[in-house]
Amino acid sequence: MKAAILTIPQPIQKHPLRIAGVPRPEAEPGHVLLKVRACGVCRTDLHIVEGELAPRRQQLIPGHQIVGEVVEGATTELPVGTRVGVSWIGGTDGTCWYCRRNMENLCDAPTFTGYSVNGGYAEYALARADFVFRLPAALDDLHAAPLLCAGIIGFRSLRVAGVEPGERVGLFGFGASAHLAIEVLHAWKCDVYVSTRGASHRRMAESLGAKWVGAETDKPPVELDRAITFAPSGDVVVDALASLRKGGVVAINAIHLDRIPQFDYDRLLWGERQIRSVANMTRADARDFLQLAAEIKLHPKVTSFTLDQANEALAAVKSDAIDGAAAIGPQSVDGG
Ligand SMILES: [Zn+2]
Ligand SMILES: [Zn+2]
Repeated sequence: MKAAILTIPQPIQKHPLRIAGVPRPEAEPGHVLLKVRACGVCRTDLHIVEGELAPRRQQLIPGHQIVGEVVEGATTELPVGTRVGVSWIGGTDGTCWYCRRNMENLCDAPTFTGYSVNGGYAEYALARADFVFRLPAALDDLHAAPLLCAGIIGFRSLRVAGVEPGERVGLFGFGASAHLAIEVLHAWKCDVYVSTRGASHRRMAESLGAKWVGAETDKPPVELDRAITFAPSGDVVVDALASLRKGGVVAINAIHLDRIPQFDYDRLLWGERQIRSVANMTRADARDFLQLAAEIKLHPKVTSFTLDQANEALAAVKSDAIDGAAAIGPQSVDGG
């Protein structure tokens, strides 16, 4: 099968992914073999390909927002032809302290799709049968792909921030995850304030009904109840903190940050303000979000790339050149 393969992490301008033929994965007990129909492109893939996340394998096929069709390993719940999604958490041990307390997102021995095991920048992918999710029928393959990480982890960020219906919520950065989170927030009757770089991202936030939209360093005109940051930048976290009311929460939706700068405790954190990271996701997050996405008819904006353009897709994510999400596909289900 054809796949995009990472051997040595390098800056994306050097095209670290090699498009080549590799053996199709062998079916394994407890797993389903999927014919990949589309795979979302996430900033975490960029961190893996560029080496900000330390390599876990000598050779890796990235990609953790897989829309696929079951072709082998079918079960009664997952017959051949079932369309399913695979996300960043590809499996957990089910036995550690966290798994036993409904915190499988913090599992001590997790499997990460497209990082500790091969992912979906390929024609086929293997996934644990108990970690795949049925997808809303209303969305085609390409538009379902960004729900699987950008969507689910954006949704978890809203939960971690403790968003209540009707609150004032700030989104700092307006990429793949934020453009889905804003629709969930509107379904919850929240007012959304967006600070982001890039005129086209600001236009998109306006078109999706943000109450206020400003540039990267503009401060929202009201005190926020909650804020979610999406940029891999600690400066943005401090900006978000400076916008909160007492008792407010910043949730950081980023697996990697450049650094956290020094900041003034008395002015910014005192008053029971909180900063929380958002780590991974649980299967309950995935199921709850996919159900909500179907109910509110969430419709991601997606720019499509071919598998041969995997490096270009990641370069576009890096330079914020895309409005909404990027995905590889759709791939034809027959043949290639
Ligand atoms: Zn565990
Ligand atoms: Zn992701």
